[in-house]
Amino acid sequence: MKHFTHELEHIEQWGHLRKDLFRNEEPSIKLIGLTMPTEEMISQGITTETLPAYTARQSHESEGTYEDDLRLNKKLISWGHQTCLEAVQFVYYVTGVSKSLAGQWTRHRIGVGWTFRSTRYVKANKNTFVYPALEYMDSEEKVKAVYRAYEREHRHAMDVYEELQTLGVRNQELRRLMPVGWSTAAYVYVNARSLRHFFGLRLEKSAEWEIRRLAYLMFNDVVSIAPSLFEDLVEDDLVEER
Ligand SMILES: Cc1cc2nc3c(=O)[nH]c(=O)nc-3n(C[C@H](O)[C@H](O)[C@H](O)COP(=O)(O)OP(=O)(O)OC[C@H]3O[C@@H](n4cnc5c(N)ncnc54)[C@H](O)[C@@H]3O)c2cc1C
Repeated sequence: MKHFTHELEHIEQWGHLRKDLFRNEEPSIKLIGLTMPTEEMISQGITTETLPAYTARQSHESEGTYEDDLRLNKKLISWGHQTCLEAVQFVYYVTGVSKSLAGQWTRHRIGVGWTFRSTRYVKANKNTFVYPALEYMDSEEKVKAVYRAYEREHRHAMDVYEELQTLGVRNQELRRLMPVGWSTAAYVYVNARSLRHFFGLRLEKSAEWEIRRLAYLMFNDVVSIAPSLFEDLVEDDLVEER
């Protein structure tokens, strides 16, 4: 199976230095929902992965085996006949991502939606922070110094938050104090076509590190579920075969 393993390892190289930082939270994704064919379709050998090809066969009223449908998925992608990829919907619970990431992620408008933790209704006293990966830095000493500076700022933000809260300031105003590195959590609803578009933009080396890290995590998961819908996005010289 093709995965973005090396890239994730590279971006996570200083992860061990973040473990004990003040209110550190690392990103995590959990699949909680996935399109399933109906019992009738399953009995005919159709799976989540082959739903796109199965439905695309409508255009020529053709028939094929399970293996044919896996191959057809890849052809549909290469032809740009991608509407049928909307047949497969994923629902993920994503935690340990920053408000900064949320700002970038929600710029994607088509085939994707979110429910984020509210900063109006949920008090942030126990909130956590997403520290930068600093994957471009070589010196461990410098990385530690940068993390100490971030810690200082995060503690300060929490102190001011609590000070104003004690004075009766409401959540909806207190959230202005949140640094963009504050952690949030969301349910994301996204179809396979939209995910491919997201990966095309956000797995790229030019993408910002945090959204790239999230794209690696999501890619590595969905490519295990439906390889034929995603594995063409991995360049062979970048991947590790499992
Ligand atoms: C490396 C990088 C740097 C970026 N830097 C900046 C930046 O400096 N400033 C900034 O503001 N943003 C920036 N962005 C965000 C970028 O401009 C897009 O808003 C974001 O990537 C979402 O892409 P999208 O519109 O293709 O996705 P979606 O909104 O999911 O759209 C998917 C596709 O649907 C079509 N589509 C969607 N809406 C329309 C429409 N209204 N009309 C016609 N076709 C449509 C397009 O083909 C589009 O590609 C950056 C993105 C990347 C990847």
